[in-house]
Amino acid sequence: MNQINKDHGKAINNKWEMVIGLEIHAQVSTKSKLFSKASTEYNAPNTCVDYIDLGLPGALPILNEECINKAIKSGLALNMTINKRSEFDRKHYFYPDLPLGYQITQFYHPITENGHIPIWIDQDLKNIRINRIHLETDAGKSIHKRNKTYIDLNRCGIPLMEIVTEPDLRNEDEVATFFRILQSTLRRIGTCDGNMEKGQMRADVNISLRKSGEEFGTRVEIKNLNSVNFMKKAILFEYKRQSEILESGGEIVQETRLFNEATGETIHMRNKEDAADYRYMPDPDLPPVILNDTQINQIKDSNLPYEVCQNIAKLGVSFQDAWIIAEDPYLTKLFESSAKSLEKNDKVILFKWVIGDVISYIKKNPNIEINPNYLRDLIVEVSKGNISGKAAKEVLIDFIEQDISPLEIIKKKGLAQINSADAIKQIVHDVIQNCQKEVESYKNGNENLKQFFVGQVIKATKGKANPKITQEEVLKYLANLK
Ligand code: ADP
Ligand code: MG
Repeated sequence: MNQINKDHGKAINNKWEMVIGLEIHAQVSTKSKLFSKASTEYNAPNTCVDYIDLGLPGALPILNEECINKAIKSGLALNMTINKRSEFDRKHYFYPDLPLGYQITQFYHPITENGHIPIWIDQDLKNIRINRIHLETDAGKSIHKRNKTYIDLNRCGIPLMEIVTEPDLRNEDEVATFFRILQSTLRRIGTCDGNMEKGQMRADVNISLRKSGEEFGTRVEIKNLNSVNFMKKAILFEYKRQSEILESGGEIVQETRLFNEATGETIHMRNKEDAADYRYMPDPDLPPVILNDTQINQIKDSNLPYEVCQNIAKLGVSFQDAWIIAEDPYLTKLFESSAKSLEKNDKVILFKWVIGDVISYIKKNPNIEINPNYLRDLIVEVSKGNISGKAAKEVLIDFIEQDISPLEIIKKKGLAQINSADAIKQIVHDVIQNCQKEVESYKNGNENLKQFFVGQVIKATKGKANPKITQEEVLKYLANLK
């Protein structure tokens, strides 16, 4: 497969293949922190801190069980193995926004390992393997203003899931697709709100280049990207930078880089540290987390967005279109309830209506509730040809706004399509009789008038005459004139 087929700028060539792995930090959606009662809300600086977050002597961590349950739930949604025994470790480093002097993380024994989720590239499915999800604490924030640095410790101890992928991604589009599927999945199961502006999700991008089929090259890590757009830009910049170095015979240095949002460039931050630098050790204040099967099985969620998407795509529609419904919980529910008793062909009609007229209506009226049974009834009428597409649009809006069954609306407004060939034949006869001038012109060779007659019939029936039958009857009638 040719992985890089777009113009990425000056350094573009098809010689180098990107190899990308992500480390994603997803904030567990909880009221309180991983090891303290302090609130996780987005609040005024230094108002949400407890003793342990401040690293006060003698303060002890108390594990928030909610975080364990949500990590398990996330792991199951990503097809991971849940470890019955996991442990917390201390990862030491010195920084003013880390008063404890260490981060509490799960280095040796994470809570989940070895999963995967599918992504789609056009109509192909590909599994992206997830190496692990472990729980860890976030650090505080340093804010540099003029010549001063301010510290906000609100984020100290905020629960994070670090989700680490295998290096299975091959370009920026795969990264974007993967990230969006992951984000929607965590949101759907309620384990992470996924708001990137609030720092609830961010990613480190690891990227190296290689010649297709060869061993992986040396990787560079770009830290803390807080939007999909920045991830894509950083990847494209690194592709160019690394390929230029390799082209000129140079070597890539393993390092950690930062993305500059203003220039779109990545810059050196520090050399890559080794695990040994952190002096990892099991945290003596925290007992191991022991789980049993009953506990784990209670937590599993189904109907995940990527499952919904794959199911809808079985109708023969593209993954990309199916995703429009799958990533939106309301549309998913509406589609699935309406589709329940429909035949496959009608499901396809329903699908087109949902991603078309229904979505446009919801965009204009965001809080509207649509009755799935009424939507299904309307689709059945459209599918049977009992009502024209144009009339159906009118009925759709009416049944949503008036909460009356589509069948009743069709009856009340007389919108039923005329499908009887005999009835249409009669109307064709009457209408054309009244157009003597055009009939003369047609007889004299003006073939273009065929569509005029069809239009006249449709107009005379206020759009209710079945267009296909009308066309046939008009042609038959005209043939007899000659
Ligand atoms: P560390 O813990 O030192 O950061 P890991 O082996 O856990 O290293 O890998 C971190 C991330 O880097 C993972 O997402 C992994 O997929 C990715 N990665 C590993 N090797 C490469 C490589 N050669 N090129 C690109 N990404 C890589
Ligand atoms: Mg790392």
